Amino acid sequence: MNRLIIVVPCYNEEEALPLTIPVLSEVINNMISKGKIAKSSAVLYVNDGSRDKTWEVIAAAHEKDSHVFGLNLAGNVGHQNALLAGLEFATSLCDMTVSIDADLQDDVNVIEEMVDKYIAGADVVFGVRNDRTTDSFFKRFTAQGFYKFMKILGTKTVYNHADYRLLSRRAMEALSLYQERNIFIRAIVSKMGFVTDTVYYKRGERNAGESKYPLKKMLSFAWDGITSFSNKPINMVTGLGFFILLCSLAAAVYSLCAHFFGQTASGWTSLILSIWFLGGLNLFAIGLVGQYVGKTYIESKQRPRYIIEKSLTHDSEE
Ligand code: UDP
Ligand code: MG
Repeated sequence: MNRLIIVVPCYNEEEALPLTIPVLSEVINNMISKGKIAKSSAVLYVNDGSRDKTWEVIAAAHEKDSHVFGLNLAGNVGHQNALLAGLEFATSLCDMTVSIDADLQDDVNVIEEMVDKYIAGADVVFGVRNDRTTDSFFKRFTAQGFYKFMKILGTKTVYNHADYRLLSRRAMEALSLYQERNIFIRAIVSKMGFVTDTVYYKRGERNAGESKYPLKKMLSFAWDGITSFSNKPINMVTGLGFFILLCSLAAAVYSLCAHFFGQTASGWTSLILSIWFLGGLNLFAIGLVGQYVGKTYIESKQRPRYIIEKSLTHDSEE
């Protein structure tokens, strides 16, 4: 029988969880009563080193509700790695997972549709928002720019799909073969292959609390996504460097000719400008290469991506 585990990464979500937990348990109960998923299906809340009462809220819910599981990470490892911790923990316990954010901005009503598509044979079902009107203009603009930029750089991502998706057990096992530390799950999932399907929904507002993705985190997330999937930025800088080299050769030829005809080239401004320009470009290029070297350094240490402090589950009756 299909056992489903919904995986929810939670960071400082003490305000959102009391609203989220009953809704997700209801979703599970609903599908159990329709006979679509096993009675032992559950929601796994992963506490990503929150500094508020998130874990207490999860533990209390686990006492009362047989469909609530909890996973407490030893420290904050970020959304992607917290999600991965939950997915890897769930792999041995179930046949499929659905990952969703704790603020329920993603419409829970399509979970059933995802399960239907799983039953119909899909290994990966992407949740795609076809309406972002509840996001601020800024968020929409930056997010969409990001998807477009990723496309230019040749990384395959599903447009407007974040981390709301169903994965079959096979797909989860495949995902755990990707051992990188700078993990960008949504791009890996698109890359893996497998039979995929899509469900569409309208993205809502956060149910409580504040976004845990301020601009700084968003930018670093985008940067990670780009650099862990593409070497194109390095190629582009190399190409630019080569182009400028050619230009300077042409300029050298030009000034030599000018000298030959007795016209000394004048211009202090252009000299200073080009020095600054080339200096800046040099630093940028070195910095860019450094970013990749730094990534290699981090990966080479092969540190654990998360550490589980405690887990709370219920035994399955079937
Ligand atoms: N989150 C996490 N660890 C972090 C930051 C965020 O587990 O370090 C979780 C957070 O609790 C939420 C999800 O990631 O369930 C998405 O965060 P949020 O809703 O704040 O992002 P937004 O929707 O604003 O992009
Ligand atoms: Mg959110």
